[in-house]
Amino acid sequence: MFMRDSNRLIDKLREVLASSGGALYGGEAVTQVQHALQCAQSAENEGAPKHLVAAALLHDIGHLLHDEFEEAQARGQDRFHENLGEAFLKDWFGPEVTEPVRLHVASKRYLCATDPDYFAKLSPASMHTLKIQGGPMNAAEIAEFEKIDNYEDALRLRKWDDLGKDPEMKTRDLEHFLNVVREVAEANRSQ
Ligand code: FE
Repeated sequence: MFMRDSNRLIDKLREVLASSGGALYGGEAVTQVQHALQCAQSAENEGAPKHLVAAALLHDIGHLLHDEFEEAQARGQDRFHENLGEAFLKDWFGPEVTEPVRLHVASKRYLCATDPDYFAKLSPASMHTLKIQGGPMNAAEIAEFEKIDNYEDALRLRKWDDLGKDPEMKTRDLEHFLNVVREVAEANRSQ
């Protein structure tokens, strides 16, 4: 597969984060950029491999690439931001990054069905989107989900996602995490 130049990725990310990253993260008290940094920081704190730190930083990039996204969600329509994000990231990354991104919403539906504690702790905004996203998985959906390679990575990403809503959380800066992203994209390119 042809992998694009990682400089183009980093430029595009800077552009997208500068133009829409200051918007609030769907009904929470943090901006999109804070949310992305907090998710990546939680991954790093847990000692996750770099490809998952990159996935954590970029998991909601589909929100930022799609201008009408917030508007559609307010109308109760799901724009499938996880698919938009995956489609964008595929030019630079393999499935170890794109799959957890693609599956981060399904992971929420999975965890809501399988972990009562998780379900009880969903934020009000996340509870609202759960309904739009199809509610907790049924038994057949759970069985299908567990057949996906490395689905546990997507569950890890989901838990970092849920931690990234704290206005007080301190993180390393965007440059630090963009360097991780660049490193992962370059390693993928030279494979
Ligand atoms: Fe998120």
